Amino acid sequence: MDKTLLDALFQPKSIAVVGASTKPGKIGYTVTDRLIKDGYPGPIYPINPGASELLGLKVYPSVSACPGPVDAAVVVVPAEAVKDALLDCAQKGVKGIILITSGFAEIGEKELEQEIVRIAHENNMRILGPNIVGILSNTDKMNASFCPFLPFPGRAALLSQSGALVIAIDAATYSRRVGFDKLVSLGNMADVDFTDCVEWLAQDENTSCISLYIEGFRDGRRFMDIARKTGKPIIALKAGVSAHGAAAAASHTGSLAGAVKVYGAAFTQCGVVQASDLDNLFDRVLALSLQPPMRGDNLLIITNGGGIGVLATDAAERCGIPLKFAPPDVQAELKKHMPVFGSAKNPVDITGMAGPDWYLDAVRYALTHPWLDGLAVLYCETAQTEPLEIAKTIRQAVTESGVTDKPVCACFVGGERSLKAMQWLVESGIPAYAAPDTAVNAMAALYEYGQMRAAVAANDIPSADPAARGAALKIIQQARSDGRTALTEIEAKQVFAAYGMPVTATRLAKSEDEAAALAKQTGFPLVLKIVSPDIIHKSDAGGVKVNLKDEAAVRQAYRDILQNAKAYKADADIHGVAVQEMAEWGAEVILGSVNDPSFGPTVMFGLGGIFVEALKDVTFRVAPIGVSQAAGMMSEIRGAPILAGVRGEKPRDRQAMAAVISRYSQMVTDLMDEIAETDANPVLLYEEGKGLKVVDARIILKKK
Ligand code: ADP
Ligand code: MG
Repeated sequence: MDKTLLDALFQPKSIAVVGASTKPGKIGYTVTDRLIKDGYPGPIYPINPGASELLGLKVYPSVSACPGPVDAAVVVVPAEAVKDALLDCAQKGVKGIILITSGFAEIGEKELEQEIVRIAHENNMRILGPNIVGILSNTDKMNASFCPFLPFPGRAALLSQSGALVIAIDAATYSRRVGFDKLVSLGNMADVDFTDCVEWLAQDENTSCISLYIEGFRDGRRFMDIARKTGKPIIALKAGVSAHGAAAAASHTGSLAGAVKVYGAAFTQCGVVQASDLDNLFDRVLALSLQPPMRGDNLLIITNGGGIGVLATDAAERCGIPLKFAPPDVQAELKKHMPVFGSAKNPVDITGMAGPDWYLDAVRYALTHPWLDGLAVLYCETAQTEPLEIAKTIRQAVTESGVTDKPVCACFVGGERSLKAMQWLVESGIPAYAAPDTAVNAMAALYEYGQMRAAVAANDIPSADPAARGAALKIIQQARSDGRTALTEIEAKQVFAAYGMPVTATRLAKSEDEAAALAKQTGFPLVLKIVSPDIIHKSDAGGVKVNLKDEAAVRQAYRDILQNAKAYKADADIHGVAVQEMAEWGAEVILGSVNDPSFGPTVMFGLGGIFVEALKDVTFRVAPIGVSQAAGMMSEIRGAPILAGVRGEKPRDRQAMAAVISRYSQMVTDLMDEIAETDANPVLLYEEGKGLKVVDARIILKKK
């Protein structure tokens, strides 16, 4: 698709309003009115066959009848008239369609929606919408929407799947002094979606931060690719705790995957910061749109009040940037800018006696010190100081320091005077908040952004492995030719082994004598397991016997397993019994994968064993991932200390585990057309240097 077509949506040089109405209150009237009132500089062509004049503009009967070229058309006619409107636009060479009209997929009219997209694409047009509020741009003085006004000016952009939210956020930008350049309502995303817009905004010089209100992605993988390449902060507010991941799950992983976990993982992987709610979105957008990322974790807090300093300290801990004492030279210097009873540790308490001068000296000095990565300046209203003066001093100190690559956020706790001071500071480019925890949380957004960008830059994502894939496909084809969608454990382990993962040696016995013979070759102790595509959870069927020490035990186990299996499921197709090497005990972990409807194959890692569903101590990534992301998974589960070695236990072999997680993620990606779900539970993870063993493996194929 021609990318320049989006220019016509974001920066049209002329606009037609198809369905312009002469009746005030009608959307077609409102849109025309907004375009004029907010100063759209290009030609505006109202289209309505039954009118001749509207708000001082000449009205045309059709787009094709307009005298000059038409770049974009805002279409507000009823759904059934949209097709004809698009054909009219096509005839005129319109490139961008801002389709406000509703009554498409959102009410089940999917076919109509697909048809208009087809018409648009056949005619080299792109559609924003349908079912939207419109698009607004301060730079282009374009209010092509029914929002009452352009947003409070600034450098953020909003892409929203909810139209109502666009209107509400538009108004809130003024009360909150969070500046936006563009607001885009995406609606049904029949054509233009988040990814298209992010890609366009990434090269827009008037956008410094891209915020997203998301209900669901259509193509999460494509979004991730574009987000990774975007050199600007992106922040997402994801709504909707959908249970789609849990549906129809034959494996542990299915019931553990939730949409929120997968989205959260995807955002981490592609460097997208998250907001927890609408308030938080505003707070974080303010920081991300005005300040550079925080590149390390040395956060310094300067305050005139002990109380807000403690609150900020708590918040820093919660946000994952716990405060550290500043180095001695920093403390010694700061000591000069406070009374004797002040504190130069962190928080730096310049005390309630602090006037503008002390703020000036402390801020200017601290910013220039190489130790510091980020600075939060807190102020409690006092009787002796004027908040606006403090705000101006902070601005002056930052400017005079000459430092532009370290973020600064401020907090003003107080009343009306503080509010005014904050607004002044924000308009001068320094984010300011009314509470210390909010200021620190905003700083954390800059920290998260810095951290994630560095991880994205590591870019150690593995590439496809055609040889392994070929070997795996042979095994899969065999199962398919038997009419099966479940691989046996033996087959699943062959696929795992093809991808270089260490599995327990397993061989199939079809009779008791064969089992006894294979047992002698394998060596004792060993494990016998039922092999049947109809028995997915083998222990449930009494189909696993471990620690068999001699031939007699093996023979007995063979008979017991067959008997149990028949009792469990009389018509089960039994291939035989697996004679398997018994692995030494190790920490039990689980690997899993499900296909997310938006992101495709995922990989899950967590503490495994029989308690996995109760503990839910698992984490996800969108596959494939490299070892750096895999290492991140191991450190973010609650049980991370268990892997690191607790109570005198040696650390587990996390390096080997990370390599296997990465291989596993490659396997599910390479085979995404074949595999529906897979897991390995347990994987036994040994001490550092001793590797791991996949003890149980399961692969469920997609139905074809
Ligand atoms: P399922 O999960 O289908 O019930 P598993 O193959 O996971 O069957 O076996 C059940 C349990 O038996 C495992 O969780 C593990 O504790 C133990 N086990 C299975 N195979 C082995 C093996 N080869 N070595 C050591 N322990 C094993
Ligand atoms: Mg198991």
